[in-house]
Amino acid sequence: MFISAISTVQNIQNNNFNVNKVATQPIEIKKTEKNDNMSNASKALQSYFLGGQKVSFGGTSGFKIKKLEDVPCPCCGQIMLTPESTEKHVNRLKLAKGNKLADRLMNEEMPVLRSNEKAAAWIIANTVKNTEMNIAAGAKKANENLPKGFNAYCQDVLMNAAIICEEELGENSKAGQYLMKKMDEIHDCEKFYRPDITEEFAQFKSEMSHEQYHKLEDTLMTLPLDYKNVSRIMDGASKETTVAVANRLLGPSLATAEHVLPHSLGGSNKASNFLSECAGCNNPRSSMPYAEWFKVHPEFKRNAQGYIEHVEGRIVNGELPATYDSYPVDIKETLTNESEGQIVLKVLDKAKLVELREMKKAGQEVDIHAETEKAEQEKQDEQE
Ligand SMILES: [Zn+2]
Repeated sequence: MFISAISTVQNIQNNNFNVNKVATQPIEIKKTEKNDNMSNASKALQSYFLGGQKVSFGGTSGFKIKKLEDVPCPCCGQIMLTPESTEKHVNRLKLAKGNKLADRLMNEEMPVLRSNEKAAAWIIANTVKNTEMNIAAGAKKANENLPKGFNAYCQDVLMNAAIICEEELGENSKAGQYLMKKMDEIHDCEKFYRPDITEEFAQFKSEMSHEQYHKLEDTLMTLPLDYKNVSRIMDGASKETTVAVANRLLGPSLATAEHVLPHSLGGSNKASNFLSECAGCNNPRSSMPYAEWFKVHPEFKRNAQGYIEHVEGRIVNGELPATYDSYPVDIKETLTNESEGQIVLKVLDKAKLVELREMKKAGQEVDIHAETEKAEQEKQDEQE
């Protein structure tokens, strides 16, 4: 099953590998509207950031959050890899063949792959099953009839979503019927575009709980963006060595420093302007405004909150330098401005994080999510 996003990279130790260059080619996004206009808020922020009020962390390479293992991407919500853990995953794939390879791709690797690469890995896994093929031979063979594999993967994801619907909402729910209908309609891979489905599926929001909707949305987000992107991965992979194919699949999972206000628009190289985001989400967004990007990643708002609570946990654990104590408040401000109020994170301030770190040091349990809710409630009470 590929729908669970449980990390398989936990407890991976950092060995001193030579870091390979990882394939992180940008993904093309279908442009439905003009998305290269800089908002007024962006322009205002540009001058604000150029003013240099915030502490500098020495550019993208000095941004320490992207160097931690097991951080969930604020955009897609999936666990990101460091160069060291990427190498571990690549090593597990490069020598595997046949059923063993299929099993690794489907079970161990699937949770750490981004959606287009999930599709590619699934198609390769089904090709190498009951053969002696390695990942390079599998990619070559699978690419010979890619539309068939692509359609089968999309149908499989929709089937899984339909099964969740049935389990959660019973037989014959409208949402379930919609998914079955979509499954039947997948014939022309060229026409497939994930946001068409996720945007239509939003109409069923009122028919289920938040949790049920999020579970289904997360499942639908394992659909590839479109055929073109998967085809590009497979075209490249069909001509490469096993190591290069494995790197191509895993590269987009690598943690990178995302400029919230794009660097090309004057965004600063400071932690207060950085999210640690996977290459698969960072590269295609480029300088696209958030309003446009939310159509491709509707789950961003929810995942950004999960990200910041995770990072606050790492701050409280003492895994980041004390200079990061003000990161949650700073990044909240940057995101609020740049998303024009569409993302307003709930964060803990520096004083609270320092207090919680002391509690943790003294051996007390700390629940970041509960503390965040409590702080938010106190703030609301104050305002009333
Ligand atoms: Zn991501």
